[in-house]
Amino acid sequence: MKKRKRSLHPVAAALIIAAGTMALVGYCCMYPDKAYSTLLIYLSTVIFLLLIAFLSGLMYRLHKNSVGQSEFISIIEALNTEMIVWSDDFSYVHMNKKLRDLIGIPKEDANQCSAAWQIFGIPVPDKEAFKRVIDNHSYEARFKNSSGNIISIAWSTSLVKKRKRSNLYLSTGFNLTELKKMRVNLASANDFFNSSMELAEIGVIMSTDRKNYRASSEMVRMLGLRSSSITVSEFRTLVHPNDRIQFDSAIKSTDTSEVKSIDMRIKSADGVYHWYSYRYKSIEGTDNTLPLFGGAILDITQEHEKDILIERLAYIDEVTDIANRNKLMDTGQEIYDTCRLLQYSYWIIVLDIDRFHIINDTCGYKNGNYILRNFAHILYKFVTPGGLAARISGDNFALILRDYGDNDLPIRTVRSIQDEFAKLAVDELASINLNCSAGYSRMPEDGSSFLDVMEHAEFALKSSDGNQGSICAYEPSMHDSIIGNTELEKSLALAIDNNELQLFYQPKINLSNGKIMGVEALIRWIKPDGTIVTPDAFVPIAERSHLIGKISEYVLNEGCRQNKLWQKMGYPNIVMSINFTSVDFYQSDLKEKVLDALAKSGLEPQWLEVELTESLALNDIDFAVSQMNKLRELGVKLAMDDFGTGYSSLSYLQTLPITLLKLDRSFITDIEHDNIAYEIVSAVIRIAKSKKIETIAEGIEDKVQESILRMAGCDYGQGFLYGKPMPPEKLQQFFEYNMRK
Ligand code: C2E
Ligand code: MG
Ligand code: MG
Repeated sequence: MKKRKRSLHPVAAALIIAAGTMALVGYCCMYPDKAYSTLLIYLSTVIFLLLIAFLSGLMYRLHKNSVGQSEFISIIEALNTEMIVWSDDFSYVHMNKKLRDLIGIPKEDANQCSAAWQIFGIPVPDKEAFKRVIDNHSYEARFKNSSGNIISIAWSTSLVKKRKRSNLYLSTGFNLTELKKMRVNLASANDFFNSSMELAEIGVIMSTDRKNYRASSEMVRMLGLRSSSITVSEFRTLVHPNDRIQFDSAIKSTDTSEVKSIDMRIKSADGVYHWYSYRYKSIEGTDNTLPLFGGAILDITQEHEKDILIERLAYIDEVTDIANRNKLMDTGQEIYDTCRLLQYSYWIIVLDIDRFHIINDTCGYKNGNYILRNFAHILYKFVTPGGLAARISGDNFALILRDYGDNDLPIRTVRSIQDEFAKLAVDELASINLNCSAGYSRMPEDGSSFLDVMEHAEFALKSSDGNQGSICAYEPSMHDSIIGNTELEKSLALAIDNNELQLFYQPKINLSNGKIMGVEALIRWIKPDGTIVTPDAFVPIAERSHLIGKISEYVLNEGCRQNKLWQKMGYPNIVMSINFTSVDFYQSDLKEKVLDALAKSGLEPQWLEVELTESLALNDIDFAVSQMNKLRELGVKLAMDDFGTGYSSLSYLQTLPITLLKLDRSFITDIEHDNIAYEIVSAVIRIAKSKKIETIAEGIEDKVQESILRMAGCDYGQGFLYGKPMPPEKLQQFFEYNMRK
């Protein structure tokens, strides 16, 4: 069988490809950023070498005369690579079409020897130069073509035929022009990128794999980096822990549509966190990959500080340094909206410092502020992520807490706040009983907006039993009691007509001799079945309707009548105290009504006293003073009731023409243990005395309280110790017993 002649030996081809591949792998490992262009060069080289190998086979056959010269010429003429066959004395030159086209010379000029010198980049032919061409398997030559363009070709030259005078050679070209251009472009793009990175006044970081960053020199300077290479995880450790979540989401961003921006703190060269605006973007490659990711950072610390200052002025409470009402309303509504959107729940707790006004008055403004500040800081400690502590006004605070399904959380939290708050009573405040009350509701369930939910928490606070430290949850049924009030109003109106209202009397005792000096008329609703309804249950409802006028008229006339009757019965003269609401008190014919009651009963004015609460008096201080003066002109006495519970200020004692000051029961209840209550009571008594105002303590229940108050200089006492409010007949017995004392 005739052996088939081959142009390329398979072992040679395999060796060529293996060598090329090894070279490629090695090079790519060394320069990963140049892998793309290297791959191009590699493929071109493999093709080129395969061609060389093919031609070598062909030449071998030519050499052995198995292929004719004209056949050989026509083969290379058709090949799509630059080729030249030449004799080393240049007596023979043949360039193929591809080469002629490249140089831009017609076929007839292509056999000149000067053209051959030119393509080897040799200005003057000399043996040495041609030896270099022949010996070098990749001889790189640069020359200008007829259009003036620089051409780069790597020539590989092989001996085709040995001849006596001169040998015949074949040079195969590998056109490097485009690759060279690409290299130059790549290099200049790289240089441009590097210089931009150098020149930019802002920090730039770039990553091709989202694992490693290359930082611009400004970035290196700003952050005090050791080098321009930093891994993303190293960079992340410089980001402030609270801003890392944002940073992570930026790193994961695959959005190529727009430049995004986040503000974050990054530890900088000076070792402290600066605020930076980080503008970043992913850049999409041609094959849908995201080859480049990076961004620019700009130090915005100063702007941020300005923003913080502006926000501070608008949103921070000056006294306590925590959020103010504005911030609470804004953030509260945002939280409320999030709750609706994501089906979360939050608690809103509204807190009120018990008796703060009186503490403020007695302990001074400085201590008052100290208490507010520290209370705020205690609240702040209980804020959980996403929540807020704020001062709403005066001594009112709010706390927003995430609800994780634990219904006892608000109560437990308030109890802990109360415990912490009580511990504040040291040094100057050692004797104060510091406490707070709270009302709470849940959002979004308890209202249609944040304001609604907060008002419900405030409603709950006001609906608590009024005792110190009370905590009350908002219940929608709380409104039912208001709706139910309409029913109550109707039956109260009937009760008045049916004479179901009756006055009970509670004795007031002179603490220096134990003798009765007066009684307070306290209204009771005695239902036909005998149940007694106390005034707290119906006076506020009567106050909201026209009924209070009727009730007060009854109380005024009945009180005067009863007192005159006791006088006629021979009991010692005592003062009859009646309570007025603001509706009664601000009546323009108040003086006439009182005068009428006195006239009808025949009671002398000095045996009648009107009790007014401070909040009532302060509603409209000028009008209140003029009304009080009218009563004083009649000779009627005036008492300030429940002193210390409202916005009490000792300075009002100067302004209001009162004759008696009634210390609220809350000061008396624990006076034996509560030093501050004792201090307040003693101070008030001293001041009142200096202003010729008499004092009476409400709610005395035991002898210890009585003796403390007597020692403190209190004139009178009222409370269960002497007698509960009682019907007139019972009071007569009390009179008789008391007279025998
Ligand atoms: P107030 O004028 O401060 O009356 C004192 C309240 O303290 C009375 O409650 C009385 O029973 C209670 N009290 C007296 N001593 C003690 C004590 O030692 N311990 C305790 N725990 N409580 C004591 P009451 O009668 O239920 O009256 C409540 C409030 O209703 C009164 O407070 C007053 O503001 C109002 N009120 C009562 N009667 C009338 C009235 O005829 N007209 C108006 N406008 N308001 C009235
Ligand atoms: Mg009273
Ligand atoms: Mg009172």
